[in-house]
Amino acid sequence: MPKIDKQTIDKIMEAAKIEEVIDECLGSYGPNNPNGLKKSGVRYKALCPFHDDKSMGSFIVYPKGNCYKCFSCGAKGGVIEWLMEHEKLSYPDAIRWLGKKYSIPVDDVPVDWTYIPKPAPPPLPTLHLPMSLVLRTQYAATTESDNLIKWIYTGIKWDSVQRRRITQVLADYHVGHGKKGHTIFWQLDEGGHVRTGKMMKYYPPGHAKYGHRDKDSSWNFDFIHSVLSKHWDPELREFTDEPPYPYPDIYNPDKQEARLTFFGMHLTQAAMYRHATIKLVESEKTAILMAIAYGNSASDLWIACGGLEMLTRERLKPLIDQGRRIILYPDRDGIDKWRKKVDSIGYDRLSIDTDPVLKWWRPEDGPKADIADVVVRMLNTSKPLTNIQDVATEMPQVKPLIDNLDLTIDNEQ
Ligand SMILES: [Zn+2]
Repeated sequence: MPKIDKQTIDKIMEAAKIEEVIDECLGSYGPNNPNGLKKSGVRYKALCPFHDDKSMGSFIVYPKGNCYKCFSCGAKGGVIEWLMEHEKLSYPDAIRWLGKKYSIPVDDVPVDWTYIPKPAPPPLPTLHLPMSLVLRTQYAATTESDNLIKWIYTGIKWDSVQRRRITQVLADYHVGHGKKGHTIFWQLDEGGHVRTGKMMKYYPPGHAKYGHRDKDSSWNFDFIHSVLSKHWDPELREFTDEPPYPYPDIYNPDKQEARLTFFGMHLTQAAMYRHATIKLVESEKTAILMAIAYGNSASDLWIACGGLEMLTRERLKPLIDQGRRIILYPDRDGIDKWRKKVDSIGYDRLSIDTDPVLKWWRPEDGPKADIADVVVRMLNTSKPLTNIQDVATEMPQVKPLIDNLDLTIDNEQ
């Protein structure tokens, strides 16, 4: 058997990363792979494959030292020891395995090793959270407690029709408020089941970016399901989502899987929206504002996918199954991406409308303005109709009425 030269071995040892090698063999940790490798701060953890390990914590992988160690059974080593112990490879085959993985030619001797992925267990049932959780946070969401809600009520120049819609829209969409200052956008699916909630902080009144997301303060973003599975690890001094879970009776990630849906999806099945066109925007805030500004349940239902990348055929499926007409309203930075998605999704009742961010957009909105920014600027700079001539110009359909009845506005100067 040909000898592998030292230079090649050095090159391979330089390239090989312990966390990548172990991940290749164990797979990444997830609900369907409890034996996988899991990032934990700057280190990684897994159930120790060398002893009958019941809970994570003993087996640690150190990227910095390029090694692993089990504090229970004492197994330890680097990439070579891992491949020899865990994959039962000979030393030269371990080198060849690494050469193959890192595209470093070794020799022509084939590695006597084939990666056989462990059969994936059946998918876990979808997590459904109790509605009482939603309602509790909804009661807590007031103009006093919640920065975004306060801004919606007081920071925008709604007309009287729009203003009357605010309370109903916030209730219909189940906007909630969390104890640590988050606005909670609950995600209920087409069957009305609570999938999870997205938690985001917004700047307080007086801040230059009042009405926008607070990305400065700590813990400004999270998901309800993630919070329910986290507990404080006093040793690591960070939140971890490893067993034992703090709320196993509400959510146990080993038993259910959290699956996201679109914000407002539950409304697609409400009688009043049964025939509405689905108008899909990126952010939850935009969906709320558009529902208040343009809400007409007979014709439009505004929902949010929650991010550029969240728009997938899989998540659109309930809407496609309902045969709904869907119009996408991308933000400025998402136009190209969503155009491509429309093509790849291939549903003939799906189209895209860029008017709000192209036609309605003005330079003063700034290059990064999203739909909400454009619409709020339009609302806040619109001229109040205090003059009967303005009313006639804005609403030509009432002009004959004004002329015939010689109407005036009470407080017209
Ligand atoms: Zn062990």
